[in-house]
Amino acid sequence: MTTAEIATIQDEVRALARERDAVILAHNYQVPEVQDVADFVGDSLGLSREAAATDAEAIVFCGVHFMAETAKILSPGKTVLIPDLDAGCSLAASITAEQLRVWKTEHPGAIVVSYVNTTAEVKAESDYCCTSGNAKAIVEAIPADREILFLPDMFLGVWLERVTGRKLTIWLGECHVHAGIRPDDISRWQREAPDAELLVHPECGCASQCMAFANDRTHILSTEGMINFAKASPKSRFLVATETGILHRLNKEAPGKRFEAVSERAICKYMKMITLEKLLGSLRDWKHDVTVEPEIAARARGAIERMVAIS
Ligand code: SF4
Repeated sequence: MTTAEIATIQDEVRALARERDAVILAHNYQVPEVQDVADFVGDSLGLSREAAATDAEAIVFCGVHFMAETAKILSPGKTVLIPDLDAGCSLAASITAEQLRVWKTEHPGAIVVSYVNTTAEVKAESDYCCTSGNAKAIVEAIPADREILFLPDMFLGVWLERVTGRKLTIWLGECHVHAGIRPDDISRWQREAPDAELLVHPECGCASQCMAFANDRTHILSTEGMINFAKASPKSRFLVATETGILHRLNKEAPGKRFEAVSERAICKYMKMITLEKLLGSLRDWKHDVTVEPEIAARARGAIERMVAIS
């Protein structure tokens, strides 16, 4: 699409959203033209807060399915739409509610902390939800004598053990995009860009190695943390180890600085399923309606609200 065609569709999207009293929320990994038309762009935690606080009649969620489900759980009276129902998540798919129920019976009395990248049914079986932005605070808030079952991301779990000094029982799930960023990618960049600061998402396959060999140029941060860090830093060059969609927001919010992806292959095909045309179709045809069974939603809401209360 040309720049003019993109601008025309963005105008139509904005007009329809106004007319239908819909707020557009977009994750940091969305394509640039979707980020640019959204009312709010952020990470999972920021989007959850916006979903809970909005006065709009409807939420159009430009992200993956579990995120739209979370918005529905937090705003059950609102219509929540997702432009493509197939926008899933390999990490959320790595554990089912049935698998979690079995795991819990093997660890009676343990506290279950679930990363937000889980289905509503898994959240309903959890005591706490967390995001990479608040996982450390959640784990630290749990009494030291309680066993913690952490799921589903093993890399985030290992990173949490290191930063909290706490032993966790960790589910061996992973995100195929972040797991694909390997220690070799990091070493190569550290050799090639010795003047750059390294920003690493804790879900990365390289995160635990980065922690082991951390120097003062290495920063393990959530996507929102990366943006805040880059804006405040006096440094001008940054290597970024997460999904490449974040580069658009970094360039926008910290203009004049240089951001480069550690791995150009770090692209989430699920996040990229949401296009500007599908967003327009979603607003025009009022689709696809995201639903969560009320009893599941009520139990999942408890885990999310306990997270929001701590962070
Ligand atoms: S980047 Fe990974 S964790 Fe995020 S939505 Fe895509 S598959 Fe899921």
